[in-house]
Amino acid sequence: MLSLREVSVAYDGTTAVEDVSLELGDGEVLALLGPSGSGKSTLLRAVAGLEDAGGAIEWDGRSLRGVLTHKRGFALMFQDGQLFPHLTVAGNVAYPMRLRRMAAAVRTKKAGDLLELVGLGGYQDRLPGTLSGGERQRVALARALAVEPRLLLLDEPLSALDAGLRERLAGDLRRILHESGTTALMVTHDQEEAFAVADRIALLRDGRLVQEGTLRDVWATPTDAWAASFLGYAR
Ligand code: ATP
Ligand code: MG
Repeated sequence: MLSLREVSVAYDGTTAVEDVSLELGDGEVLALLGPSGSGKSTLLRAVAGLEDAGGAIEWDGRSLRGVLTHKRGFALMFQDGQLFPHLTVAGNVAYPMRLRRMAAAVRTKKAGDLLELVGLGGYQDRLPGTLSGGERQRVALARALAVEPRLLLLDEPLSALDAGLRERLAGDLRRILHESGTTALMVTHDQEEAFAVADRIALLRDGRLVQEGTLRDVWATPTDAWAASFLGYAR
């Protein structure tokens, strides 16, 4: 379980995230939702250990302060999946397993299973350059899941895709996260995407947490006029 207590991040004295407290239980999917510049990516990067943060960031009650990014057991996925262009689809998915020195037979089996999970069975030998944007994001997701991260951090994973594809992939992403039992923190500025993928929503404005709750709570009882208009805007 991830818990944040009064987490703050400042860049050169300017506060980007201020006193954010949140909890994320195992197997839950939480969307950090807010307009551009509200501090979503900064908060995600702090969780990943890529920004110095004030306050406490803990996993299962243990502080992550001083724990390097690659030792946190988290996986990150960004807007453009950033696949290795010279490796096949299967090679990309197997890459983090290779780093962990998993046996070749295990890697191949697991990469195949993950590609099935993301709907790309049979794509093993294709090169990234021959895939559509949506297919590339699916490969990136399979690769992020390959090491069975205890937390998956997603920063605008679908925003490079066109609207129709984004909607379809959002539903798939929800299913994939739940089927694999993955705990995930997803950043998005897109209200519909947040509601389509997540179990809970944390609404950020100007670096502060405005509201946090289940989809139903947040949708039914926005905390103030700003939250109501931001959430309602998408409908
Ligand atoms: P978007 O939806 O546009 O990605 P965001 O909610 O992810 O926005 P952040 O990227 O977290 O917003 O930025 C929050 C604030 O911190 C902004 O005012 C931004 O200008 C500032 N900021 C972010 N990164 C840096 C940096 N490396 N140096 C200085 N300021 C930064
Ligand atoms: Mg961002």
